[in-house]
Amino acid sequence: MTLSNTERKIIENSIRDVKDFPKPGIVFKDITTLLNDAEAYGVLMNHLYQRYKGYNLNYIAGIDARGFIFGAALAQMLGIGFVPIRKKGKLPYTTISEKYSLEYGIDEVEIHIDAFSKIQNARVLLIDDLIATGGTANAAARLIKQAGASCVEACFVVALNFLDGQKNLKETTNVYSLIEVN
Ligand code: AMP
Repeated sequence: MTLSNTERKIIENSIRDVKDFPKPGIVFKDITTLLNDAEAYGVLMNHLYQRYKGYNLNYIAGIDARGFIFGAALAQMLGIGFVPIRKKGKLPYTTISEKYSLEYGIDEVEIHIDAFSKIQNARVLLIDDLIATGGTANAAARLIKQAGASCVEACFVVALNFLDGQKNLKETTNVYSLIEVN
């Protein structure tokens, strides 16, 4: 199940472009305006529900922090649990962590070691607002595997296709992005 053109336009028009944030040359895709627009947020969540209700998912894993907003709402709609994948040092219990490269330097994401332990080979959907270089999502997909579960798909509201993140991630898992920016 994919978006209709009308649904895509409603979602696309609700996302604000902020030029030169957080630094010169970056166009930041601001999803706070989508969340602020009940129609657009509803169209998005209803579409995700319709797409994923037949996937037999056991968990949604959301990436810190905007992935939590879509992921937690979708988990409730599907009647399944939610797992946060967080930036280093935020999760209180024993964690597994994965490093990934940024343009300058290294970042790290973590998951609780027992996040999927209630279900053997749990089927997990990974979700975030946007995929750029794919570093964060790739590290998150590795964490899901290390925690003993299977990442059946990674879903993004926006994919920046002028970067190779989506292409690279497709080597590891299925990828579904609602809005593609070329
Ligand atoms: P990456 O690891 O390069 O794929 O970056 C993805 C993460 O950075 C996501 O959690 C996004 O929320 C955030 N991000 C990167 N670039 C942008 C952008 N142009 N607009 C909004 N968020 C971005």
